[in-house]
Amino acid sequence: MAELDISDQLREAGLRVTRQRLAVVRVLREHPHATADAVAERVRALGVTISTQAVYDVLAALESAGLIRRIEPAGSPGIFEARVHDNHHHMVCRRCGLIVDVSCVVGEAACLTPSESHGFAVDEAEVTFWGLCPACQRIAAGERGEPR
Ligand SMILES: [Zn+2]
Ligand SMILES: [Zn+2]
Repeated sequence: MAELDISDQLREAGLRVTRQRLAVVRVLREHPHATADAVAERVRALGVTISTQAVYDVLAALESAGLIRRIEPAGSPGIFEARVHDNHHHMVCRRCGLIVDVSCVVGEAACLTPSESHGFAVDEAEVTFWGLCPACQRIAAGERGEPR
């Protein structure tokens, strides 16, 4: 994973290249769907000194520059990812909170065409699928006393 190309992205977005911004983008590319706290922890694990407030500031700057995306499934804290501009969706486990990416199910254009646009010029659709991940399905089956 080239730091160089992250630097280019930052510069193209009009952001000054700092160690902290580089580290945050790198962490999010390697560990998508991370909370701000999780990002802070991983950035520090890379040996970069950063305060929790600074993490929030960096995330906000990267988000408004369009380099990262913030999603907020109901009942969950804000979650960040570096996969942007592909209109992908998310599947969330109700039980353990696992989040996985789902590519647009019926094609990009269809997902962007609601049955009623109410006059909006729609440029993004965000769908969250909820359910139980495979591990949680096994746990739930065990709790019901079903054979695994
Ligand atoms: Zn689960
Ligand atoms: Zn995602």
